[in-house]
Amino acid sequence: MRKLVCGGVAVFFLALAGMYLFWRLTAPNIVWICIDALRPDHVTCYGYRRATSPHLDALAAEGVRFTTVYAQAGYTLASVPSFFTGRHPLSLGLWASSSYTKKLPARETTIAEILRWAGYQTAAYSGGAFVTPDFGLDQGFNEFFLPAVEQAAGEKDCVQLIAQAVRWLERKRRSPFFLYIHTYAVHDPYGAPAPFQGMFTPAERGAFLPAAPDADFYKMVRRGIIELDERERAYLVGLYDEGIRYCDEQIGRLLAALDRLRLRNNTLVIVSADHGEELFDHGRQGHGDVYECIAKVPLIMRWPGKIGAGRVVSSAVRLLDVAPTILDAAGIRGGALFRHQGRSLLPHIVGKERAYPCAEVIVGMDADARLRLAVRNGAWKLIATASEPGGVIKPYRYELYDLSAADSEKNDLFAARQDVAEDLQELLTESLRLIPAVARRAPPRFPGQEEPLLDAQTMRRLKSLGYL
Ligand SMILES: [Zn+2]
Repeated sequence: MRKLVCGGVAVFFLALAGMYLFWRLTAPNIVWICIDALRPDHVTCYGYRRATSPHLDALAAEGVRFTTVYAQAGYTLASVPSFFTGRHPLSLGLWASSSYTKKLPARETTIAEILRWAGYQTAAYSGGAFVTPDFGLDQGFNEFFLPAVEQAAGEKDCVQLIAQAVRWLERKRRSPFFLYIHTYAVHDPYGAPAPFQGMFTPAERGAFLPAAPDADFYKMVRRGIIELDERERAYLVGLYDEGIRYCDEQIGRLLAALDRLRLRNNTLVIVSADHGEELFDHGRQGHGDVYECIAKVPLIMRWPGKIGAGRVVSSAVRLLDVAPTILDAAGIRGGALFRHQGRSLLPHIVGKERAYPCAEVIVGMDADARLRLAVRNGAWKLIATASEPGGVIKPYRYELYDLSAADSEKNDLFAARQDVAEDLQELLTESLRLIPAVARRAPPRFPGQEEPLLDAQTMRRLKSLGYL
């Protein structure tokens, strides 16, 4: 009898091992490329007039393109932790702050951790700035690569970043892997090296605009010290577009490497941004705010044989849905370990799920680091601005916009449509109540209150991107 039980147990474990081996052999590889500050309406397959993105267009034609995708925050430091964990920035305790003192808490679980526990090889290739171990974003990665210290403009060097990532692929290609790439090639200071330099910028740029404006220049533009005219603004937009074309070319190299290494068929490739970019839509340049030009991001996925070519999903989805989608694709149940707030997008892709209500709070901040919260319901969008910098500080100042109208976020209807505003205010209050960090009334942190988190090198990197 005892022998029989032992034999049964052995068979059970052998079957389990067999299932695990089978899963290891069939689990898809995941490559996720995040292009910092890429707004969808400057990507050709999203309808842009310039040919900025031939490789992204081809990728979308081979897979699925989501047309309406919202980031949960208008800035990197809140958005990336949110989509790494599938949790809302407010749940993570990450909200407006100009002090750069907050990091993803170690108790939170990232998609990289889940995949690593499941047996994936995991690596991140990051251009630096906020996507670094300093901010807790290395959780779950076997390897985390940053630009070399001596690389002065390392954050912008997408060529090296992709070349290094390809070398990692060449080493790791025999096991299921998760490769995350975060590039600042499109982030300001805008522009690109030859042969992309001059591709979209007009020959005439105005007397006061340098050919390649640096981070300090953008800082002065954002602070209103430098006022740009229409022609100068158009020149900067041209530089932004050249950055996209440059970045797209490097992504083409990575995709070619997947083909060369015969990895195309069993790899789910995801391309997204962490937030968009304001290009003077509301008179300013940069990101952080919650306007549509910043809150909306591109999202493209390719998985040959699993995702039909040329699919387009138009229902609104969120960046925090990407991590649950990856788990779904990999056949992993995160269970209690992965307490995400999103949902898998795979049913949307195969057309089995109808649109779900995507009324969700988007977190941002204004130029003075005051918290900005946006909530949408259908075509209506309410924005609440905290009265002081640092956290959820009331009373709020409200704006109301009808997104179906032309130039929608320039015409504040708060006073005129109190009926709609009241509904959305209620929705905002309700949404905030669902977010644990706010429900617990975690005390807001003020700039300068906490110990500095960053070393000199990180400060230098942030400075090169115009943050400090
Ligand atoms: Zn960013």
